[in-house]
Amino acid sequence: MRNIAIAIILFIFGAAMGSFGCCQVWRIRKKDKSKWSHCMSCGYRLMPIDNIPIISWILLGGRCRKCGKKIGYAEFLSEIFMGLLFTGAFLLWPEKEMLLKLQHFEVIKFFIFLIETVLFEIIFIYDAKWKEIPTKILYASVAVAAVFFGVEIWQCLSMGQTVFWLSIALGFLILPGFYYLMYKISNEAWVGGGDWILCVALALMLGDFWLCMATLFAANMIGTIIMVPFTLMRGKKQARIPFGPFLIAGFLVVFFAKHFIIRFIGL
Ligand SMILES: [Zn+2]
Repeated sequence: MRNIAIAIILFIFGAAMGSFGCCQVWRIRKKDKSKWSHCMSCGYRLMPIDNIPIISWILLGGRCRKCGKKIGYAEFLSEIFMGLLFTGAFLLWPEKEMLLKLQHFEVIKFFIFLIETVLFEIIFIYDAKWKEIPTKILYASVAVAAVFFGVEIWQCLSMGQTVFWLSIALGFLILPGFYYLMYKISNEAWVGGGDWILCVALALMLGDFWLCMATLFAANMIGTIIMVPFTLMRGKKQARIPFGPFLIAGFLVVFFAKHFIIRFIGL
């Protein structure tokens, strides 16, 4: 019963954060510093009733209340997805027992993870739309990941577990290292400068060589499956691929399948 209540609260909270994140994407793009959300075409200032995640979008049929211009599916989908992600994070949390026992390190890690996913949401949408990653958000994601990493190390040490520094270091070598190399070799032709920095954040969140390896693999798999039809449709000229969304998708899969992957590799 308690878990269901938590799951529902997290869904609502996640949807609200999804709406917030999506809004930030446009603010960053348009360098908008105004305090209120407003319609992008007529400037109508959104009332609280227009700001209820998911529900407002459905009630208004995805249109602005005043001018009727379409708002777009990105908002709606990101609200639903972030709601599901927050709930999913709770239900699929790798150290769920510790989380349910409210072990304080684990609870702190859980909330840092949620904050990080909102930054990832912004990176995901921005990179998918414009093939670049806003620098401020990128560095913020590295900073948040560094805090997560710090808490995890502290947790390990306080529980008397060994910290596998070599595995962590090799993780950095394989994930950000690979994208950095690609970026340097191709002179930004295949891989953008933001991707390897995003990978630094991912490596900090994963803190393990095999998990970094799995993320690299998953990201490229997802990327290939999605990009191949696109490339075939457009034919010839191959543009730079926005790796951000694939890296984030790969990371999420690996993060929640952590124990399965480690067991699979036989460590
Ligand atoms: Zn409008």
